[in-house]
Amino acid sequence: MNKLLRGVLKFNSAIRKNYLAEIDKVSQEIVKPMTVFITCMDCRLDPLRFLQTQAGEVFVVRNPGNMVPLFDPSKPDNASAEGGGLELGCIMNGIGDVVVCGHSNCKAVNSLYSQRHVCHEAQDQEHTVDSPLKTWLSAHGLRTVQKFTKLFSEEEQLLSVEGKKILGGFKLNFGKEEFLCAVDPQNDFSIEDKLSQFHCLQQTSNVASYPILQPYIASGDVRVHAMWFDIFRAQMFMFSRTRGHFVAIEESSVDELREEAKS
Ligand SMILES: [Zn+2]
Repeated sequence: MNKLLRGVLKFNSAIRKNYLAEIDKVSQEIVKPMTVFITCMDCRLDPLRFLQTQAGEVFVVRNPGNMVPLFDPSKPDNASAEGGGLELGCIMNGIGDVVVCGHSNCKAVNSLYSQRHVCHEAQDQEHTVDSPLKTWLSAHGLRTVQKFTKLFSEEEQLLSVEGKKILGGFKLNFGKEEFLCAVDPQNDFSIEDKLSQFHCLQQTSNVASYPILQPYIASGDVRVHAMWFDIFRAQMFMFSRTRGHFVAIEESSVDELREEAKS
């Protein structure tokens, strides 16, 4: 705690004045919230730093594995922090862009990968008592691993290690038109990171399962995007619906990505 307390003292003396100026801009509506950003709680991810945003601009929702629980009308208790965050941001504060952001070397996704053959058993009381994390990952990552293992057999996963297989040819929908996807077409990443990208797209598609958001998405007032951060290269990617895969955000690609993000 000592480092945290010293950090507060440093904030008090060096940063508080600028912070209050930023909050004042929010109060005067000079700065308005613009994005709901759902990402993993991994301590190596610092979204406000790599997005270069200031106070008042981004609503951040974090959990293990950047999950967006699928809305299930059959369950009486359907509350989730992520659904509540989407409503608070998009409906109550008029935010127009939702981003779901995954990342490389994600411990939660790695754990999901290692338990991919037993996910369906994780609703057992034993798992619930022993590991809330496994229960969480199984509850909201089951669809990811079911689709992933169907698309990408164990044999093909082994081949991918030698650079011979691309995970592609699957369709997704972020709430409007359906598009064809591929994961890691350059075959730059490990099988766990491929799953992480696939998982990020799957969770992004879950945003549109919330009935309260559907009319906003249909009208274009809310737009849904997927990003993915490569921790070891400090490189942010954005999913391109027209290209069908994640594209590194660079000067050469940003105009195309910005244009696509408008719809
Ligand atoms: Zn993570």
